[in-house]
Amino acid sequence: MKGSPIKIVVIITLAIVALIVALIVLNNNNSEYGEEQSFERQPSIDGQPTIGDSDAPVTVVEFGDFKCPACKAWGETVYPQLVSDYVDTGKIQFAFINVLFHGEESKLGSLAAESVYKQNSDAYWDFHNALFAEQPSDDHHSVWITTDKTLEVAGGIPNIDVEQLKVDVESNTAIEEVNKDTELVTEFEVQLTPTIMVNNTVIEDPFDYESIKQAIDNALKGN
Ligand code: CA
Repeated sequence: MKGSPIKIVVIITLAIVALIVALIVLNNNNSEYGEEQSFERQPSIDGQPTIGDSDAPVTVVEFGDFKCPACKAWGETVYPQLVSDYVDTGKIQFAFINVLFHGEESKLGSLAAESVYKQNSDAYWDFHNALFAEQPSDDHHSVWITTDKTLEVAGGIPNIDVEQLKVDVESNTAIEEVNKDTELVTEFEVQLTPTIMVNNTVIEDPFDYESIKQAIDNALKGN
């Protein structure tokens, strides 16, 4: 009985310390994960390649780069889930906007993809996926996006006029489309690829599919 008051004081002190620690941890978590960046507007997908129902209530945009390994990984892991859960069910429309963070190769890949889109919008996604598939997994810094590579990739896809594509790539036919994408990259302050936006909200971690789902579900409720 003699030591009990001290024990009680110790227990209360420990409880208060634990509470303070818990509050600090919670606050940090809130500032790190709870505040996804939102813009007043969402990126216009006018003239962008899209998949999904054009009347879908929510729009998801990927700012991506054919030279970016994380974009390839995102396309192989998160994207298929997004398609089966939300595109195939008519809930979202998905669009891809080019980012040129890796210089001339990014530009060349984007010019080729935009040229394919202009030529035959139905062939766009096959080309897009096939070009990403060519990205070397061991050394992505090596030069691999060349005009010849884009033509080789296009040659494997039905209904692309490869001769026309050669002319278009060599004469920068789609440069206005590429520049338009770069303006969106600037407007939406894209710093990393892939950057995923659900309507006007930037997803903090593009590989956190649960947070993408949550943002889409919230946006669907708002509609
Ligand atoms: Ca575009």
